[in-house]
Amino acid sequence: MSKIDIKLIENIATIIRDNVKGICRTNEPMSNHTSFKVGGPAAIYAYPEDENALKSLVQICQTHTIKTLLIGYGNNLLVSDDGFNGCVIDLTKTFRSIDVDDTHVSASSGVWLSDVVDIAAVEGLSGIEKLAGIPGAVGAGLSMNCGAFGSYISDFLVDVKVMDSQGGTKSLLRAEIEFGYRESPGLHGLIVLKAGFKLNHEKPEIVRIFVDETIAERHRRNVMILPSAGSVFRNPEGNYAAKLLEGVSAKGMRVGGVEVSKAHANFIVNSNNGKASDIMELIQKLKDLVFTKYKVELKLELRTVGFDDFKA
Ligand SMILES: Cc1cc2nc3c(=O)[nH]c(=O)nc-3n(C[C@H](O)[C@H](O)[C@H](O)COP(=O)(O)OP(=O)(O)OC[C@H]3O[C@@H](n4cnc5c(N)ncnc54)[C@H](O)[C@@H]3O)c2cc1C
Repeated sequence: MSKIDIKLIENIATIIRDNVKGICRTNEPMSNHTSFKVGGPAAIYAYPEDENALKSLVQICQTHTIKTLLIGYGNNLLVSDDGFNGCVIDLTKTFRSIDVDDTHVSASSGVWLSDVVDIAAVEGLSGIEKLAGIPGAVGAGLSMNCGAFGSYISDFLVDVKVMDSQGGTKSLLRAEIEFGYRESPGLHGLIVLKAGFKLNHEKPEIVRIFVDETIAERHRRNVMILPSAGSVFRNPEGNYAAKLLEGVSAKGMRVGGVEVSKAHANFIVNSNNGKASDIMELIQKLKDLVFTKYKVELKLELRTVGFDDFKA
């Protein structure tokens, strides 16, 4: 990956600071923004203050052919040790409004998903309880079509407001967007700004019980105290990645400072100051072992940044 000239970056950062309300940093370590705690620097890292600022930012990046990367809370991202030669756009500090109108909940992209679940519980609105405890933002959750226990975030979606790479905005209805398992092809190349969800009236105390049960179940399945990014691989059709990984004795397997969790074979944990390259080497090793034994090609659930040669 070719590095962008440092002088060019400083010039573009100056243009951004002069024209975009918000914060713009250069040479920002991505290890501070990913749950794996790995990743080299982002050339530019920006927190646009509002929709107009975001529009200006994407237009500046477009004009100067600077690549952009949207980030939520970094819980599903593996960024290479070389970092990202472009502009990371972070909406988690500024796009944070939640509104409730009867059974309709509208949440901006940077809102912590569990906050939506909690507010729904307080308001006596049922539907999204099984998403409780998934670490991440609403916008990223839609980009991933995150889910748990058979429930997907897209199941409750009514509409999404998005911005394209030219800064244009539009609203899409749920029926207009293609969603898949841990992917949202219908949102590809778009920035999620806001999402509306339709829930159902229920007694608040009943919703709270469902939420607490979900969280308790998550704790029973995997107690995570070490940095990780959740499930590394998607479940192959009709099978479980964790089962195949257990079949090749993956638990505890190490490369450098990282290892396969002893609690969950589909989690890699950064147990000892590992690097992104350690994680990638372990991923490749696990893929090879599973393919050799089961002839199954494991596909990544993680999103990788800066590994140009890697075939997910
Ligand atoms: C301990 C642990 C448990 C987990 N359990 C689950 C689980 O049960 N189910 C599950 O589905 N996931 C799970 N995950 C993975 C992760 O929590 C989800 O993928 C979550 O949706 C990621 O949110 P984030 O804000 O951290 O996204 P990030 O990692 O920051 O980004 C994820 C993707 O979304 C894109 N993106 C971010 N913001 C936007 C935006 N505004 N518009 C468009 N694209 C955007 C990013 O470019 C990236 O490709 C787990 C992770 C951990 C660490």
